[in-house]
Amino acid sequence: MAWFKKKKEPSSRKQVKIPEGLWVKCDSCKEIIYKKELEKNLKVCPKCDYHFRLNATERIKYLVDDGSFEELYPNLTSGDPLKFKDTKSYQERILEGQRKTGIKEAVLSGTARVEDEPVVLAIMDFSFMGGSMGSAVGEKIVRTAEHALEHGLPFISVSSSGGARMQEGILSLMQMAKSSAAIGRLRDNGVPYISILADPTFGGVTASFAMLGDVIVAEPRSLIGFAGPRVIEQTIKQQLPENFQRAEFLIEHGLLDMIVPRRKMKKTLSKLIRHLAGARKPQPPASDVSGNGHKSADEEAYSDNDTSTEDIVAEAGHDEAARDVENRYNIP
Ligand SMILES: [Zn+2]
Repeated sequence: MAWFKKKKEPSSRKQVKIPEGLWVKCDSCKEIIYKKELEKNLKVCPKCDYHFRLNATERIKYLVDDGSFEELYPNLTSGDPLKFKDTKSYQERILEGQRKTGIKEAVLSGTARVEDEPVVLAIMDFSFMGGSMGSAVGEKIVRTAEHALEHGLPFISVSSSGGARMQEGILSLMQMAKSSAAIGRLRDNGVPYISILADPTFGGVTASFAMLGDVIVAEPRSLIGFAGPRVIEQTIKQQLPENFQRAEFLIEHGLLDMIVPRRKMKKTLSKLIRHLAGARKPQPPASDVSGNGHKSADEEAYSDNDTSTEDIVAEAGHDEAARDVENRYNIP
C-alpha cells in the first residue's frame, strides 16, 4: 500500500481542445500562424513574407474585383488519348484533381474586372496535377486568349505549373506551339498580354506562353525555370549559384520585368493595363480570330499535320474543327 496517496485534484488545466485546421505552419520560417490572420494577409506569412501557393479560386479572390469573375469554358477537360496508366490511370488522376480543386482542368478561365478595368484571365492551378499543361489546358488558354482578342480586352495569365502533362505525351508538347501562336496573334493585333508567374513555374509553360508577356511579373521568391536545379547540376556537373531560379535571381539576369508582392499585385496590374491601353495603337478589326486571315509562323509550322492531332486552334471558328474539339475534350 502506498504511504502517500496523490490527491486527485479537480484539474484546472483541462486540455483545451483546438479545432483542427485553425493554425498553419509556414513552409519557409516554420512559424505557426493563425489561419485567419494568414488569409487576411492574402496568404503571405506575416513573419517572413513567404508567399503561400494559391489555388485558382483563391487567386481570383485576391486579384479581381469582388463578384466580377465570370467563368469561360468551364466544361473543357482532357480526354485520355494514350490510355495512360502509371500507378493510377490518367482518368483517375483527372477526377482526383477535379475533386480537389472544384475545377475541371488545371486552368481556370474567365472575364473579370481589376479595379474596374475589364480583363480576360487564365489562371493555372498547381494543385490540379501540378498545374500541368495537357491538350485541354492548352486549348483553354488559346480560347481564352482568343476571347481577349475578339473583345479587344487585355489578356492576363497566372502561371503555376510543373510543365507539360506527361500522361498525354507529345500532345502536351504541342500545346507549347499552340499557346505561343495564340499569344502571337494577340501581339499582331496590339492586344496587351500580362503574364504573372507564381511559384513554381517550370517546363513547357515557362518555355511557351508564360515567358511571352508584354510585361512579365513574378511573385517574390517564386521558383521559375525550365528544368529543375538537380537535373541542371547533374547535366553541367557544376554547382549552381545560391538563389538560382528564384524570381530575384531571374530579374537580375533580365528574364523578368517586375517582382510584385501579392498585396500590391492588383493595383500594379490595373496600372499596367491602363498604361498598355494608352500605348495601344489604333488597330484593324480582329478579323483573324477564326484563323481565316493571317497565319503566324507557328501556325504554318504545324498546319500541314494530320488534323486528328492538334491544329484545332488554327481553325477555331470552323464548324467541323469545333465539333472535333468538342468530341475530343468531352464538352457536353
Ligand atoms: Zn514565414
